[in-house]
Amino acid sequence: MNKKIAVIKGDGIGPEVVTEAMKVLDKVAEKFGHTFEYDQLLMGGCSIDANGVPLTDETIERAKAADAVLMGSIGGNTSTSPWYKLPADKRPEAGLLKLRKSLNLFANLRPAVLYKELKGACPLKEEIADRGFDMMIMRELTGGLYFGARETKEVDGVVTAVDTLTYSETEIRRIAVRAFDIAMKRRKKVTSVDKANVLDSSRLWRKVVEEVAKDYPEVTLEHMLVDNCAMQLVKDPAQFDVVLTENMFGDILSDEASMITGSIGMLASASLNDTKFGLYEPSGGSAPDIAGQNKANPIATILSAAMLLRYSFDMDKEADAVEMSVAKVLSSGYRTGDIFTEGMKLLSCSEMGDVIAEGI
Ligand code: NAD
Repeated sequence: MNKKIAVIKGDGIGPEVVTEAMKVLDKVAEKFGHTFEYDQLLMGGCSIDANGVPLTDETIERAKAADAVLMGSIGGNTSTSPWYKLPADKRPEAGLLKLRKSLNLFANLRPAVLYKELKGACPLKEEIADRGFDMMIMRELTGGLYFGARETKEVDGVVTAVDTLTYSETEIRRIAVRAFDIAMKRRKKVTSVDKANVLDSSRLWRKVVEEVAKDYPEVTLEHMLVDNCAMQLVKDPAQFDVVLTENMFGDILSDEASMITGSIGMLASASLNDTKFGLYEPSGGSAPDIAGQNKANPIATILSAAMLLRYSFDMDKEADAVEMSVAKVLSSGYRTGDIFTEGMKLLSCSEMGDVIAEGI
């Protein structure tokens, strides 16, 4: 297959980790007979330096013209970088928000996987960590409380703030379809998380998810209240496969799920629209404290590239090969500094990219 990937290396460790992910993609192309063509684009601080704005219209158009976008992180040290003296809408993060919106990315996927080799980093009790976990948190990204009407006003002399939580059937259906499609590629279970005992929007959520489930008889659907889900994530995370939820619940639960893996340099993510197109990036930031030192962990970005292969290109075998190589490298004892423990072999960012590419 011939595919075009827009590449946004970004700022800080972004260029280092994305270079390693491209090394791995090139190895996949060679092994499996594909051609990946890269269109390198600027966004974030580097675009401010080159163009005066964090995101240009040309970058948006070129990203749209690609089959998928692979991204590093953007931004700098928020206390010292001159980018943070600019008005909020001219700062690096404004570029990212505008890009996500322009690409209509409504489904955010954050896998939380505990590799048995890294279970020492898991803050949960040993008997829970021993069972491991591998879940996909799927968060609706463009609706709900964060996008509803809001205002602060005085009511009878008392200052009162109002935020509105709105979901339409269409918004719920399109993400539910995505969640069931993804469950079909995994262990075929969806846990839909809501607060249907209190909220109308959650009751509609539950009804629409149940309708969608009828088209996926192989997938087991369960409903869970969000407060219970927050507890279950720390009590028995192994029970989850795909966790489907609305914007604010997903914001909180995806951070909780990340936290129990214990290692930010390992966390991939994807944001999808209603076509095969998606934007793939590590969950962490640009880590200005270690930028330019060849120390960063490239695995989150490499696993994001594996998600790109699986979800945008339907290259499941190729994605499996990348994920298996990562697992093999970890079980061989190779570590970057952030996940290093005594007795392991310490690698630089580029050396980690080399051993993962070699393993494909
Ligand atoms: P951060 O995630 O960049 O760093 C937090 C800590 O984790 C640091 O000690 C860093 O060294 C470490 N870390 C992160 N990724 C790592 C990796 N791959 N390998 C090894 N160590 C890693 O968070 P921060 O310091 O709060 O933010 C720095 C900048 O990143 C800010 O400008 C912030 O706005 C931006 N940011 C961007 C994104 C994005 O592009 N999507 C996301 C979060 C933060």
